[in-house]
Amino acid sequence: MPKLYFKYGAMNSSKSANALMVKFNYEEQGYRVALLKPSVDNRDGANLVKSRIGLEERCYVIDSQVNLLDWFHQHPEYQVWIIDEAQFLTPEQVEQLKDLAVDQIPILCFGLKTDFQTHLFPASKRLFELADSLSEIKSVCRCGRKAEVNARIRNGKIVRDGEQILIGGNESYLGMCYKCWRDENFTVKNA
Ligand SMILES: [Zn+2]
Repeated sequence: MPKLYFKYGAMNSSKSANALMVKFNYEEQGYRVALLKPSVDNRDGANLVKSRIGLEERCYVIDSQVNLLDWFHQHPEYQVWIIDEAQFLTPEQVEQLKDLAVDQIPILCFGLKTDFQTHLFPASKRLFELADSLSEIKSVCRCGRKAEVNARIRNGKIVRDGEQILIGGNESYLGMCYKCWRDENFTVKNA
């Protein structure tokens, strides 16, 4: 039986690079792989999976209204799906992915576990409940502990209130350990 995978990590834990490397490995074995990303906005590069180490590829952008079972039947040529930024799917889409993984094809989701306030994203929660395989892509805080909080940074300060998803603002995100997040022990590069 194919599986639904969730590979989660903090900001800057090279999730996109991992997604692209897994895609390359499947393709080397002759598989046709669909690369997908939920749409959150229409900024430039919305249809790219981009990693900070320089890898990038075009992807399909999936709107929150899209039924992924329908999408599967419209794109029967793909044998494996890889989804980046999976935290921005809807919980219903995650349930559709589970159905596809049970009956049809392996699906590998890469994404964040929690938001800037340490709460699960709704899709990530559903992935934790339904995925057949969970694995963490680990990264390190500047202090050496494991990064696990995705701090929202504005004007060099950690933001603790606001919407779960903010589009088009001038915020940035930084993966850090809980202790550094709580104690505001960080520096922003180029700030
Ligand atoms: Zn730390």
